[in-house]
Amino acid sequence: MKLIFIGPQGSGKGTEAKIISKKLAISHISTGELFRNITGELKEKVNSYINQGELVPDELTIKILKERIIEPDCKNGFILDGFPRNIAQANILDKITKINKVIEITLNDELAIKRISSRLSCKKCGAVFNTITNPPEKENICDKCKGELYRRKDDNPEEIKKRLFIYHKETEPILEKYKDILITINGEQDIEKIAKEILEKIKE
Ligand code: AMP
Repeated sequence: MKLIFIGPQGSGKGTEAKIISKKLAISHISTGELFRNITGELKEKVNSYINQGELVPDELTIKILKERIIEPDCKNGFILDGFPRNIAQANILDKITKINKVIEITLNDELAIKRISSRLSCKKCGAVFNTITNPPEKENICDKCKGELYRRKDDNPEEIKKRLFIYHKETEPILEKYKDILITINGEQDIEKIAKEILEKIKE
C-alpha cells in the first residue's frame, strides 16, 4: 500500500501518517523530517530554505525521496507526508512508483495558524504535541520517548503564512491529478476520529 497524505500545515497529516503507518505496518516518510535531520554539507543550504518557509529545490527533494523509498523498510509500502508539494514533484513521482490512494486532510487557514502557533515537536522522535489541544503530560517533555520538545523555527507567524500561501498555490492544485484515488477528510475532527475515518475509507 502506497499512500500520499496532503494537507495544509497544522492539519495533523504528520500525526495521522504516524498512526496509520503503524496500523498498516508501512513506513512513514516525511520529507520535512528528512530535511530537518539532514547532516553534512547540505545542512546549511537546506536550513536556509526551511527556516524561511520556502520549498527546498525539486532536484534535491526528489534525490532524497528516491534514496529513501528504496530502503528495505519501504518494501511493504509507505506513506508520503509532505511529498509531492507541487506538480513537478507529482509528475516525477508518477514515473517512479504507483500510488494507491491520496488522503487530503482539510483545515481552514485561521485554524491552521492557531494550531501551528501552539505546536511543539520532539527533537528525538519527531512526535508532535499542541499546547492547547494535545499537550504533553510534562511540560516540554515528550510523552513517548522523554525527548525534549521544541518549537520549529518555521512555526512562527510570518513563515506560517508564507507556507500556507505556497500550499494553496503549489500543493493544492496537485489534488486534481489524483481525483480518482482521492479521499478527503475534515481535519477539524479529533485525532482518533480522523484516523478511524482514514482507515475505513482506505478499505472501501
Ligand atoms: P513540513 O515538515 O512538511 O512542514 O516541511 C518543512 C519544510 O521542509 C518545508 O517548509 C520545506 O522547506 C521543506 N520541504 C518538505 N517537503 C518538501 C518538498 N516535498 N519539497 C520541497 N520542500 C519540502
